[in-house]
Order: sequence, then C-alpha cells, then structure tokens
Amino acid sequence: MKRDIHLVILLLLVIGCSLASLTLWKVVASRERALEEINIHGLNLTQALATYADGIVRQSSLLLLGLVERLETEGSDPAQIDRLSLLVSRQQPLMPQMSGVTIYDKQGRWLMSSNRTIPAGANSSDRAYFIHHLNDPSREPFIGLPIRSRSNQEWVITISRRFNDAQGNFAGVVAVTLGIENFLRLFGKIDLGQEGAIGLSYTDGSMLVRYPFREQDMGRNFSTSPIYAKYLVDKTVGTASFTSSLDGVERLYAFRKSDRLPLVTTVALGKREALASWKLEAVLSLLAVSGLLGVTGIIGWMLIRDIRRRIEIEGALLVAQQQLLETNQQLERLAMNDALTGLANRRCFDETLAMEVHRAQRDETLLALLIIDIDHFKLYNDTYGHLAGDACLREVGSVLAECVRRPTDLLARYGGEEMAVILPNTDIAGATVVAQLMLDRLNGQNIVHESSPFGHVTVSIGLSSMPGANLDQWQSLLDKADQALYIAKAAGRNRLAVG
Ligand code: GH3
Ligand code: MG
Ligand code: MG
Repeated sequence: MKRDIHLVILLLLVIGCSLASLTLWKVVASRERALEEINIHGLNLTQALATYADGIVRQSSLLLLGLVERLETEGSDPAQIDRLSLLVSRQQPLMPQMSGVTIYDKQGRWLMSSNRTIPAGANSSDRAYFIHHLNDPSREPFIGLPIRSRSNQEWVITISRRFNDAQGNFAGVVAVTLGIENFLRLFGKIDLGQEGAIGLSYTDGSMLVRYPFREQDMGRNFSTSPIYAKYLVDKTVGTASFTSSLDGVERLYAFRKSDRLPLVTTVALGKREALASWKLEAVLSLLAVSGLLGVTGIIGWMLIRDIRRRIEIEGALLVAQQQLLETNQQLERLAMNDALTGLANRRCFDETLAMEVHRAQRDETLLALLIIDIDHFKLYNDTYGHLAGDACLREVGSVLAECVRRPTDLLARYGGEEMAVILPNTDIAGATVVAQLMLDRLNGQNIVHESSPFGHVTVSIGLSSMPGANLDQWQSLLDKADQALYIAKAAGRNRLAVG
C-alpha cells in the first residue's frame, strides 16, 4: 500500500517534470524561432531600403556628372546656365526625390537654382560640401550631412560634384538636394511598431535620415553606438540586439553597409514589442500546462488520499482483529481458569484428565493423580475471615504451582479448598517426589494458622497412579486418590498417602 503511494507520487513527478520541461523547451524554441524570423525580416528590409537609397544617390550622381561635363566643356556664362536650367527642369519630374539643383561659382555665389529665383547676394561658400570640393581636387560625388535648405528651410541631404575650369582649377560646385521628407514618407509606410526605427547613415556613424524624425538626430554622430563601434568593424551585414543609449529601449537591429557607397541602412524593432505575440503564446501555453498540472495534481492527491484511507481502514481492521483474538484468548482463559487462584478450573481439569486418560491408554503409559486438601481450612476462615481465607487459597495455589514443572503436568482447583494435579507418564515414585516437594514448600512458606495444631497452613495429599491398560474405569483413579487423601487426613494431616 505504501508502495502504491510511492508509485503514484513517482508517476505524478514524471508526468509533471516531463510536461514542464517539454513546455519550457517549446517556449524557448519558439522564442528563438521568433527572433530568427524578426532578424530575417529586418535584413530583407535593409536590403530593400539600401537599394532604394543607392538608386537615388546614383541617379543624382549621374545627373551631376552630366551637368559638370557641360559646365566644363561649355563654360558657365548666363546663356549656358539658362540652357542647363532648362535641362534640369526637364529632368526634375523624373526624379521626385530631388528637391533641386544648384550651381555655385568658385566664390560660392549661386549661378543657378532649379526651383527658385536666386536671392540677391546668395552665397554658400560656408557650406561643408563647398569647402570640401574647394579643398579636395577629387571629381567624385560628395554626400553631405543633412542641412537646412536656405531656400525653404527644409532638411535636405546634398550630393555634390566639383567642376573645373580649362586649366583644371576649381571653378565651382553643382549640388543636388534631396528632401528628407521623401525618405521619411517612405520609411513611415513601413510598419515597425511603436518602438521601431529606420536609419540611413554614413559608415562613420553620422546620421543622414532617421525615422521617426527627431530634429536633434540630424547629422548627429552615432559612432559610439555598438552598430558602428562593434558590429560594422568586421561585418557589412548582420543583426544585433542591445539597449539604445538614446531612449533606453532594447531593440533588435538589422544593418547593411552599401557595396559601393559609404552608407549604412539600419532597421530596428523594439524587442518587447517584436516578441509580444510570442509572449502571449508562451503565457497561454504556460497557463494551459499549469492548469493541466493542477488537474493531474488534484487527481493524484485524490488517489493518494484514497490509498491512505484504505491503509487506515486496513490498519483499523488489523487492530480490531487483534483485539478480537485477544478477547477470544481471554474468554478461553476465563473459561478454563479459576477466577480466584488463577489455576486451571474444574472444567479444564476434567477435559485434561479425559484427554490424558486416552493418551495413557493409547501409549500404554502411567497416569498419576494427586488430590490436595488444605487442613483445617474451616478453622482458618473462622479465625481470619473469609477474605483472608481467599488470600490464603491464592498463596497456597501459587506455592503448589511452583512445584509442578513439566509442561504436560496440570495443577487445577478441584473445588473449595481442594486442588488436584494430573501427572501424565508418571509412576508412584515420580508423583511422590512432586507431592513431597509440595508439602515441604508449603511448610517452608509458613503461612500462619493459629488454630491449626501445626501453627501454619498445611495440606494433606492423596496419590494414585495407574497404567493406561487399567484406565477403562478411570473413575477409580480419582477414587483411589480420594481414599488416600482420607487416609492422610486420618493419619494426622500434613502428609502424603498413596492409594
Ligand atoms: P480438614 O480438611 O482438615 O478435615 O478440615 P476442613 O476444615 O478443611 O474441612 P472442611 O471440608 O469441613 O472445610 C472446608 C472449608 O473450606 C469449608 C469452607 O468454608 C472452606 N472453603 C471452601 N471453599 C472456599 C473458598 O473459596 N474460600 C474460602 N475462604 N473458604 C472456602
Ligand atoms: Mg475439604
Ligand atoms: Mg480441608
């Protein structure tokens, strides 16, 4: 039964542990899968956005290349500038991302602006891209940091090229301005949640465009951000996860460096937001499993309680059975024992005698009998009272019991103050030894009996012994012992007589 409880507990533990570990494994695996999917999605997005940005920059470079070519071959006199203005105004509708084209002479003065009349005295010699071309003879296009347009105060990125005069000296700059608005409009159409962000930056970490737009981020250098400081050091494309130092939000980043241009596209998703559906699924799974575990636990508990109850009932049954056995034994003892002396009673004596007679007949052995009678017991009662007489009977009984040692011997209260001993397989000599021992022990006990001529309690014993073959009339065994007792009494008491 106890083993059953242990088995149930073991079963519950196995079920519980496997269910919990399987769920945990599933939850962890699905999180990994969700992160992987987010990363793939982010990388695909950077690919698309990088291609878009590359295309715009290249288109702008191409336009600039054509304008520089014309300026260098045909000069920059007003008629030529007018022709170029016409050319640009034709090309502009084909490039909706382009805000305008401006041509500067070598002092930074505006020679042409595609979308507005030139303000008087307009000069951009202080702009970074102008200073760059002035000092750098390279003919390569230059992508400038975002600036506020002097014409309409909008944030723009400039892509510019230098043009030279016939001698190869610096003659001015042609610049295409790209409105940040166009980028933001496109980036805004991409669903990145509340905490998502898209960035287009230089490889050195200078921010060109960031969605959502934040004025303070325009042109800001993020070179200390892990993307530039750690990941882009040895990779051109990849994913990362870290907490933004700007707003403290943990994001999942996908980044890609342009193959030909010094540009980096970054797509970021708020990690908490991106994993929200996974989290919901995980919580539901955990709740379902907890419920299942709870139900299993309750069933197990009920099972254990039932087994325990059965154990208790079985225990109570065992106790009741034991009590019944003890009660039966007690009843048996009561039925076979004398209440006053504790010796075997007359019924027991009669049954045992009948049994021993049969055995002696069957085995052809001797059977001896002693009948013991307390001397002057009436006088004892008269002298000390009936209760003292009872106590004296008990004491005499226990003294006599000490003299009967063989397990087959039986000392019984025969009636009143008379006792009898059945001695199976015992001849007269053997029975005499027992009887004499009884007389000696009782005399030695010296139980005071003032009214007796001996001064103490004594007994007279009648002895008879017969072989099994003569026991057909076994009543004569009793009669012989009785007669011997009578003789012992008559002879003066406190003695043994053999019948
Ligand atoms: P003796 O045998 O020596 O001839 O004299 P006695 O006085 O013993 O003889 P008797 O048989 O006349 O008396 C037996 C007495 O034992 C009578 C009775 O009052 C007493 N007696 C018998 N059974 C009990 C008992 O259970 N308790 C007590 N106290 N006395 C008992
Ligand atoms: Mg008597
Ligand atoms: Mg007597």
